[in-house]
Amino acid sequence: MEAGEGKVNLARMAVSQVEKASGHLPGIDAGIFEKIKYTRREIIVHFPAKKDNGSVSMFTGYRVQHNDTRGPFKGGMRYHPDVDLDEMRALAMWMTWKAAVVNIPFGGAKGGVECDPRQMSQHEIESMTRRFTWEISPFIGPEMDIPAPDVATNPQVMAWMMDTFSIRKGYSVPGVVTGKPLELGGSRGRFEATGRGVFVVAAKAAKHGRFSLAGSRVVIQGAGNVGSAAAREFARAGCRVVGISDINGGLYNPKGLDVEKALDCKKRSRCFVKEEVDAEEITNAELLELECDILVPAAMENQITAANAPKLRCRMVVEGANGPTTPEADSILSDRGISLVPDILANAGGVVVSYFEWVQNLQELFWTEGEITERLIRILSKAFYEVKAIAEKERVDMRTAALVLGIGRVAEAVRLRGIFP
Ligand code: NAD
Repeated sequence: MEAGEGKVNLARMAVSQVEKASGHLPGIDAGIFEKIKYTRREIIVHFPAKKDNGSVSMFTGYRVQHNDTRGPFKGGMRYHPDVDLDEMRALAMWMTWKAAVVNIPFGGAKGGVECDPRQMSQHEIESMTRRFTWEISPFIGPEMDIPAPDVATNPQVMAWMMDTFSIRKGYSVPGVVTGKPLELGGSRGRFEATGRGVFVVAAKAAKHGRFSLAGSRVVIQGAGNVGSAAAREFARAGCRVVGISDINGGLYNPKGLDVEKALDCKKRSRCFVKEEVDAEEITNAELLELECDILVPAAMENQITAANAPKLRCRMVVEGANGPTTPEADSILSDRGISLVPDILANAGGVVVSYFEWVQNLQELFWTEGEITERLIRILSKAFYEVKAIAEKERVDMRTAALVLGIGRVAEAVRLRGIFP
């Protein structure tokens, strides 16, 4: 069975999580939970872009703004063939809870374009990005909604978005996106932030699980922004990264891979080459079932399902990706005693450093990488202990506890602002 089979509708899954969390938040009016099950605004744009051969292609782009009660909307932009409204709704909602779990003043949004960037040239990606940004620019901005990189988008795409938005305004607006190149007002440590955060919370969870991180075996699905930065952090801390993959498959070496060599090979050849790295080739389905201490899904949603959860051989799952585990798989893992650190806590390092980038842009000053990392660790550690305390008090798993913390903070903010008019 391939990873991803038995996948669930993400929007329904996200709404049912609100219902589950509300059961642990008795002081809040049911109508408030009803309100936060809905997105505030759903922008769908159909737009043309020119291909290199001069022909014109039509694209569909989305920006879903879930909730901005606690601050401007914030969330990534994804370029992928599976991008659709339901996926964007779920990812936007999870952004709202994530910002609240780490207690930064943002709401949640998500966007992207349904496309296959692997079939497009850089020039075609630039044309599509610029026209998409132009179409959604009435709805984004440093005080309204601040996009960031997600699957298949990167600092260069953010630079094109910032440039297009700035041209429309008539002056430079660096704070409209985060995850920009350093030269354009990006923050030190932003590129590594999500993977670094995954490592920080994994280290806390290992300490709680009473096992030593040094020498532990780590498997990482996905070798993009999140997966590659996480792999480097685990390797630097003395862990053995025994497996890593991308969309085409993975590499496995039970003694531990040379992470730098593997990532360098992928960068040069755009894929993993087993001969260059001293490893055997495996499929993504096999990778998820490798024996290890820590499994980090850092690719896409719906990877750990009822079909493969009974076969996982890890002690702990730390979710680098958003929504990689289905609710059925969650229960199976919990019954099997495999602990899980949920996405809205585990991968929150990205939005935390995006917040730092936005603050630096608004204040027109720059922090050092040391300052960034120290503040990142402080915020994630606090969130980890807050989630852990709720899990112990309510006798629930870490995912439910994180949702109770995040949804509880948003619901309380909605209650305080009241219902207009
Ligand atoms: P990316 O595009 O940089 O990397 C994605 C990686 O996953 C690539 O190596 C790709 O080959 C691989 N992949 C794609 N589809 C796959 C499949 N079906 N099976 C196995 N591997 C597959 O994206 P990213 O920014 O690293 O994002 C990865 C995940 O982390 C997404 O769920 C994203 O929403 C989440 N996330 C990203 C950030 C961030 O700061 N970039 C922050 C929080 C969460």
